[in-house]
Amino acid sequence: MREDFPRSVAKELDAADPLAHLRDRFVIADDDLIYLDGNSLGRLPAATPEHLDRLVRQGWGEQLIRSWPTWIDWGRRLGDRLATHALGARPGEVVVSDSTSVNLYKLAAAALDATGDRRTVLVDAEEFPSDRYILQGLAEARGLTVRTLPSDLDEGLRTDELRAALDDDVALVVLSAVAYRSGALQDMAAVNDAARRTGAVVLWDLSHAVGAVPIELTATGADLAVGCTYKYLNAGPGAPAFLYVRQELQASLRQPIQGWFGQRDQFTMGAAYEPTPDLDRFLVGTPPILALAALDPSLDVLAEAGIDRVRAKGRRLGEMIVDLADAWLTPYGFRVASPRDPDRRGSHVSLHHPEALRISRALAVDGRVVADYRTPDRLRLGPAPLYTRHVDVWDAMSRLRDLAERRGWERMPGEPSRVT
Ligand SMILES: *Cc1c(COP(=O)(O)O)cnc(C)c1O
Repeated sequence: MREDFPRSVAKELDAADPLAHLRDRFVIADDDLIYLDGNSLGRLPAATPEHLDRLVRQGWGEQLIRSWPTWIDWGRRLGDRLATHALGARPGEVVVSDSTSVNLYKLAAAALDATGDRRTVLVDAEEFPSDRYILQGLAEARGLTVRTLPSDLDEGLRTDELRAALDDDVALVVLSAVAYRSGALQDMAAVNDAARRTGAVVLWDLSHAVGAVPIELTATGADLAVGCTYKYLNAGPGAPAFLYVRQELQASLRQPIQGWFGQRDQFTMGAAYEPTPDLDRFLVGTPPILALAALDPSLDVLAEAGIDRVRAKGRRLGEMIVDLADAWLTPYGFRVASPRDPDRRGSHVSLHHPEALRISRALAVDGRVVADYRTPDRLRLGPAPLYTRHVDVWDAMSRLRDLAERRGWERMPGEPSRVT
C-alpha cells in the first residue's frame, strides 16, 4: 500500500485542496507535531490573541461598564452567526451560553416538564457520559425511567432500532448527531420524523458534529439541540456552548433555572419571574464576555471555508485513515472501529487495538502524533479539516505503523490518568 498510496499522492491532494491556505490562520507552534485531536480541543486561531487583547484593553480597560450595551446581546449575535454558518437554523433560534452539560440539563428539563404523562426517556447506552448522568438525575427527580438502548460500539445506534423503541410513553430522546467514540453519524431527518410520529421530542447533542458536518436544524425538523464550541469550532478550552430551540416551541417551554437574563424587561427588576416569550428565556445569568469573544475569529475562518468544503475534506481525510489502517495496520492487530461508509461517519475515525491506551501514549511521546484514547480500547484520530493536511494524516499513519512494527508501546504505563 505504501506503493499504492505514496506520500507524493498526499502532497498532490494538499496542492489541490481549496482549504489548504487556511492552515495559516491557526497557530502551529510545532510543525513536526501532528495534531489529530481537534475534535477534543480545536487549535488556536491566529487572530484570536490580538482580538482578545483588544477586547481586554479597550473594551474592558478603557470603556469599562460602557461596553455592556454592546456586550449584552453577544450570546444571541454569536448564536445567529452559528445558525448561519454551521447549524442551518433561523435567526433567533440559537444562543451561546453556559456549558453543553448545563444547556442539556435546561432543555431536557424544559422538554420533560412539557410532555404530560409520558414517563420514559430514551438514550443510547454509548452516549457521552455527561448526557447520560444528567438524564439519570432528571429522571430520578421526576420519577421517570431512563431506557438505555444498546448500540454497536463501532456502528452507532441504528435508526430502525430507535424507531422500534419509540412508543407513546417516550417523552424525550437524547442523541448525538456524531457519536463521540466511533464517529457514527445519525440521519437527523429520519430520527426527527420517527420521533414526531410518536409524539416524542428529540434533543440533539451536536458537540462532535458542529463545524465538521453540515447541520440543517430547520430542514431536518429538529426541535432542540445543544453543542460545544471548543471542539471543531476552535473557540478555546471550556468556551461557552450553544443551545437551539425551534422558534415555534420557544414560548411553550420553560427551563428550570429562573435567572434574570431570562426575565422579561430584565432591568425593571420586577418582583416575580416572568420569562421573555423568545429564546432569551433559556438564558440564566451574565454572559462570560471574554470567553464568548473567542468564537468570532474562529467563525470567521469557518465562514470563509464554508461548511460544505470542510465536510468534503473531512470525508477525504477520514477515508485516508481507513484505507491506510486497512493496508498498513491490520497485520499488527488494529481494526477500524468506525462506520466504513463515509456518509455514516463524522470527521473522526477510531481504531480498535487491545493496547490502545499505551499506543496513544507512545504515539504522542515517540511518534509526536497527538490523538486520544477512549474506553475500552479505542485510539481516536480526529483530523480537523481546517488545519490538517493530507500529508499530516499520511505521516501520522506511517508513524503509527512504525510504532506497531517495533511494539513501541510496551514500555509505556498502562494505568489510566486524570485526563485521557
Ligand atoms: C465534548 C462533549 C460534551 C462536553 O460537555 P461539557 O459540558 O462542555 O463538558 C458533551 N456532550 C458530547 C457529546 C461531547 O462530545
